[in-house]
Amino acid sequence: MASELEPEVQAIDRSLLECSAEETAGKWLQATDLTREVYQHLAHYVPKIYCRGPNPYPQKEDMLAQHLLLGPMEWYLCGEDPAFGFPKLEQANKPSHLCGRVFKVGEPTYSCRDCAVDPTCVLCMECFLGSIHRDHRYRMTTSGGGGFCDCGDTEAWKEGPYCQKHELNTSEIEEEEDPLVHLSEDVIARTYNIFAIMFRYAVEILTWEKESELPADLEMVEKSDTYYCMLFNDEVHTYEQVIYTLQKAVNCTQKEAIGFATTVDRDGRRSVRYGDFQHCEQAKSVIVRNTSRQTKPLKVQVMHSSIVAHQNFGLKLLSWLGSIIGYSDGLRRILCQVGLQEGPDGENSSLVDRLMLNDSKLWKGARSVYHQLFMSSLLMDLKYKKLFAVRFAKNYERLQSDYVTDDHDREFSIADLSVQIFTVPSLARMLITEENLMTIIIKTFMDHLRHRDAQGRFQFERYTALQAFKFRRVQSLILDLKYVLISKPTEWSDDLRQKFLEGFDAFLELLKCMQGMDPITRQVGQHIEMEPEWEAAFTLQMKLTHVISMMQDWCALDEKVLIEAYKKCLAVLMQCHGGFTDGEQPITLSICGHSVETIRYCVSQEKVSIHLPVSRLLAGLHVLLSKSEVAYKFPELLPLSELSPPMLIEHPLRCLVLCAQVHAGMWRRNGFSLVNQIYYYHNVKCRREMFDKDIVMLQVSL
Ligand SMILES: [Zn+2]
Ligand SMILES: [Zn+2]
Ligand SMILES: [Zn+2]
Repeated sequence: MASELEPEVQAIDRSLLECSAEETAGKWLQATDLTREVYQHLAHYVPKIYCRGPNPYPQKEDMLAQHLLLGPMEWYLCGEDPAFGFPKLEQANKPSHLCGRVFKVGEPTYSCRDCAVDPTCVLCMECFLGSIHRDHRYRMTTSGGGGFCDCGDTEAWKEGPYCQKHELNTSEIEEEEDPLVHLSEDVIARTYNIFAIMFRYAVEILTWEKESELPADLEMVEKSDTYYCMLFNDEVHTYEQVIYTLQKAVNCTQKEAIGFATTVDRDGRRSVRYGDFQHCEQAKSVIVRNTSRQTKPLKVQVMHSSIVAHQNFGLKLLSWLGSIIGYSDGLRRILCQVGLQEGPDGENSSLVDRLMLNDSKLWKGARSVYHQLFMSSLLMDLKYKKLFAVRFAKNYERLQSDYVTDDHDREFSIADLSVQIFTVPSLARMLITEENLMTIIIKTFMDHLRHRDAQGRFQFERYTALQAFKFRRVQSLILDLKYVLISKPTEWSDDLRQKFLEGFDAFLELLKCMQGMDPITRQVGQHIEMEPEWEAAFTLQMKLTHVISMMQDWCALDEKVLIEAYKKCLAVLMQCHGGFTDGEQPITLSICGHSVETIRYCVSQEKVSIHLPVSRLLAGLHVLLSKSEVAYKFPELLPLSELSPPMLIEHPLRCLVLCAQVHAGMWRRNGFSLVNQIYYYHNVKCRREMFDKDIVMLQVSL
């Protein structure tokens, strides 16, 4: 019996074990064309180690990969036995004062209510226990995976940025010190060589799209007819659908099918059949046929076993790089350099760019491996964090668009790294001034909400399922905008002013599309037959409420900005009102000896909208202006002559009249949709930027 339980061990080819890591590394050290030498080695051995049958044998594969592939690289890098080489590197290292521990799913994280700059700043348990925050008002949560410990980041904490462990190194820190000075010239040169080759190899193979052909320099002489039928994860099909389909397509038991489906869900892909091309192709067509009836079919590919083998090793390699750079900040710096170096094709050709731009095409497992590597390398190096942030911002529009059309959850998207970058105050400020980030975020958001009515306002009614899906996903961009605005500037440069106001312009364009959206008319005679859609518009309003308040907070900090913002807002409001009198002349009303001009409008007969964000923003800015002394000191700077109280109050007034009429029971036939809207208009979640501001506007105009 025993021999049958151990086919795995027996199957190891003896010749593989005889190969020596030291000798291979020795050959590489002599090589004139190192890239070619290493690629030949990989082309020969990788398919001998990985993907030898229907099921993976992780232990055997790991053992052989270490022995035949990673071992030689470690020998080459150290120039000696890595068992001695790595400890030496570790000793020479002056470790970073950043913790940067990447959280696993379910791991506890701690934040301090007193000292954290924003709620996204967290500590790992070890750092928390050694910090001053354990005696403060702290908050404990469990991580959903991803994200890292912010211990040592002086921008994340108002007080006590270091725990005891990470404080030790702070006395000698010079921010600008180059971590490479702790490494010898030889080690630097060799690390650079091997990192460049291996990183390029991993990126190339992971983003490889052909199904039966390898990159030329990895192609084998004799190719076996062994293929995998690879099933990919999507968020459209249910577990049950996948299990049922698999039982039909590959003739497996229910238990096996459950196993496949679980792995697909966790790793993003799993081979469900191994054999010759025909055999796999057959399974593929059954799966596609069975799942294409209602929705788009499940994604299945028939891939040559050697491609899958190289991809598996590519992932192994990225994790290996992540652990190797843990030995020394110098090695980490070299990896960052290699990753961000532009390739021969110019813009967007660096390895890091290539990975990001292919993110939505990669399967879940591959994404999380390289995201983790980014977090433990680029985001841990003060110099490269900045450069990476710039790359991220330059690709922002494309990354977000990929995310919106992709169907995976946000945590599996590179777009999710925005929280790590935009919440760093200095980076956010730099990206606003140098990359015009505010404007980019808002424009990208608007680009995805193209469905407008004749007046150019958002129209959420009659949304198709796909549009509704996109709308849900695109909301994460508002969160990004919030991150960017979290920390307010202490001083303003002319650049910052200019770029903020540009962003403010874009923001006004967005609000303009909301001004007057979802208008309603009083229903008379019969009750309405269909409740009109109202939730999408309110969702948008609620998500934006915080941002609208933050915009005002920013404006309040600088007089020049406030004045400009006020003028811009007023101009946009006038555009919105263009023609709102419908050619009617204002009439004059006399009450108690006062006479006012106003416009005749019958709320109970004509269209009214609850959504007036432009009017309300102006009301908010007006309050800020009156608090400052600008109006007294430099009245000539303000467009006071353009202010027309009847025009300013017209829409807020209509809205208040609507509320009064609804409360008086005049709008019963409009159903619950309207009742809900009126409810939210007054509700704490919205009133600050809705009801309250309408009242303010009436007061201002009086
Ligand atoms: Zn930590
Ligand atoms: Zn710490
Ligand atoms: Zn604290």
